[in-house]
Amino acid sequence: MQIDSLLEKNFRLAERQKNALLKLGLKTVKDLCFYFPSRYESFSERKNISELVEGDKTIVYGKIAEVSSEKSFHRKYYFTQAEISDSTGIIKAIWFRQPYIAKILKPGDKVALTGKIAFGKSGLYIANPLYEKIDSYQEIGKGKNIVAIYPEIRGITSQWIRAAIKKILKNLDEFPQDPLPERILNTYHLPKLKSSLIYIHIPKTTKDAEAARKRFAFEEIFFLQLAGLKNRIHYKSHHSFKVTINREEINNFMATFSFTLTNAQKNAIERIIDDFSKDYPMCRLLEGDVGSGKTAVAVAASYAIIRKNYQVAYMAPTEILAQQHFQSFINYFSQLQLTTKIGLITSSECRKYPSKINVKDSTHISKSQLLKWVENGEIPILIGTQSLIQDKVKFKNLAFVIIDEQHRFGTRQRAILARQKSESIPHLLSMTATPIPRTLALTIYNDLDLILLDEMPVGRKKIITIIVGSDEREKAYEKIRKEIKSGRQAYIICPRIDEPDLEKFNALNVKAVKKEFEILQKEIFPEFKIGMLHGKMLPKEKEKVLNHFRNNKIQILVSTSVIEVGIDVPNATIIVIEGAERFGLAQLHQLRGRVLRSTFQPYCFVFTESNSLKTRQRLNALVNARNGFELAEYDLQFRGPGELGGTKQWGISDIGMEALKNIKMVEAAQIESQAIIKEDPTLKNYPLIFKRLKEQKLDFHPE
Ligand code: ADP
Ligand code: MG
Repeated sequence: MQIDSLLEKNFRLAERQKNALLKLGLKTVKDLCFYFPSRYESFSERKNISELVEGDKTIVYGKIAEVSSEKSFHRKYYFTQAEISDSTGIIKAIWFRQPYIAKILKPGDKVALTGKIAFGKSGLYIANPLYEKIDSYQEIGKGKNIVAIYPEIRGITSQWIRAAIKKILKNLDEFPQDPLPERILNTYHLPKLKSSLIYIHIPKTTKDAEAARKRFAFEEIFFLQLAGLKNRIHYKSHHSFKVTINREEINNFMATFSFTLTNAQKNAIERIIDDFSKDYPMCRLLEGDVGSGKTAVAVAASYAIIRKNYQVAYMAPTEILAQQHFQSFINYFSQLQLTTKIGLITSSECRKYPSKINVKDSTHISKSQLLKWVENGEIPILIGTQSLIQDKVKFKNLAFVIIDEQHRFGTRQRAILARQKSESIPHLLSMTATPIPRTLALTIYNDLDLILLDEMPVGRKKIITIIVGSDEREKAYEKIRKEIKSGRQAYIICPRIDEPDLEKFNALNVKAVKKEFEILQKEIFPEFKIGMLHGKMLPKEKEKVLNHFRNNKIQILVSTSVIEVGIDVPNATIIVIEGAERFGLAQLHQLRGRVLRSTFQPYCFVFTESNSLKTRQRLNALVNARNGFELAEYDLQFRGPGELGGTKQWGISDIGMEALKNIKMVEAAQIESQAIIKEDPTLKNYPLIFKRLKEQKLDFHPE
């Protein structure tokens, strides 16, 4: 069997199996080899049938005597029964909802069944056992008491995958070459690729499986880091715009702000301006908790750029945020006597500031007009959504790109934005408020130089976070009523239900918000004006609702969590989060950050119907934590890496996320990837590493 050959060439596949494999992205023999088990079931040593007792988790070897499949008494589902015998006795095996098993297992087949022994009306039986046809009882050697379990989807069973991989590993002409250098494997006691593949799929012991998982985890993190480092070298190998800045001018500009900048903000601006004066591009990540004032930093840096007649592009993840930043920029710049032109481009509208009629306002303009002014340099600051990276948008001399909530944009998009007519590429500043564990940051942001905004503007009070169980709702509503009566405003967030099916997911969301909106308006807060915001609304409607909220025409805003992380309404000091147990801690922290924007006392009410001790402990961490990073670490350790949204959000597999629990491993991957890049930046002496990087489809620049 050849590693690159198609699965359908090597296995007889039914249509539904073909489709299922395709859905899992498994086309070739190699794909299947690298489709790893999600967990292992371990069983005690093999037992004779006569020795079995209820509750055993065990492996039974025997011969099938009889198989039948029928609908259950209530005709709700199929169940399949088989009788298995060995020299000591007979036991039943029962499978629910798997009628096809009757077609696979035939009387006379020798099988190994692994499962739990249960007790029913007609005595002991094995419930839903994993089965494996065997040629002889000796084949699965003694002591093999751990079985790989694969993530299943409709059409393909864990069972099938296990059997197929076994066949592959037995019949493979040649195993793929190991991309990890031997020196690294030796240093960290990692098994070679071939052994790892065998260990991970057919481990003899838990230790084997762990060693293999460790190897693949290391490998993934190592290559992610390597790709990041390559990108960084690539980015920095370009020329950029050397912008030397008159500090006094910047200071004068900052003096027009309505507040004094924090030291962290000043320091960040200083470092960015310093980077501008080098002739290779800056590539930085500004990371700061919600409300730490990242926009002001971006504004000051932008001012430095436009004073030298260069252009700035500011990309936000959503229309609402783009509009809000447009407004913020106008507010910051309107203090100046010179009227800086600022453009806004989203998929639904284009605007320009200042308007001809009223210099304090903006006007709608046509897209072609806006594009013309951007191309001839008349508009020095362009703010927008992804529309910014369309081909049509051409700048005269774009020297600085700001990307807000950067993790939502891939490296690819960054690269497109950096693509310019000229030889030089712009300085890049990414900004994020998403607190992530240090190990994750080291891995996904290692192509960026980090600046932390680790200081909140003065006068901000600590958010009082209160966990509210179902019997304390009334009291919480009273407290909220009191706050709103004294002039404050509130957000009420309804849970996002994490379903892979996006259509359904949105529908559910909208329904939850709509229903909550009605209940709140009719029964709970009839005396206040309540608005609603969700992802299915048109941008115009959203903006209208938000404007009403900003102007306090609406006191309560009911919304889904998918709405914008960066919304800035200082008078909103209360946030209620419904179904809080469904959110990650870091996400809850980010949500509550929305009310930390003024000097009023902010409140966060965390509603939960769950009485589970674990949930309460997790939510308590939210009450006590000092910052988002603490919470992200907590989530990583206690909630399991899967919950950080590995694949979905960061493009890291479950195995890779396991590695992130282990700072030592991540640091090792960092040290080794840096050493290799230092020794051989083009990787010409490491063809296997180079090949693997390319295959991995990471956003990476091969040059
Ligand atoms: P984020 O870091 O979440 O993007 P913003 O830039 O939106 O935060 O700032 C949050 C709020 O704090 C804004 O209303 C902004 O005007 C205000 N702000 C920013 N810096 C300061 C400061 N140094 N002192 C007081 N208020 C500030
Ligand atoms: Mg922001």
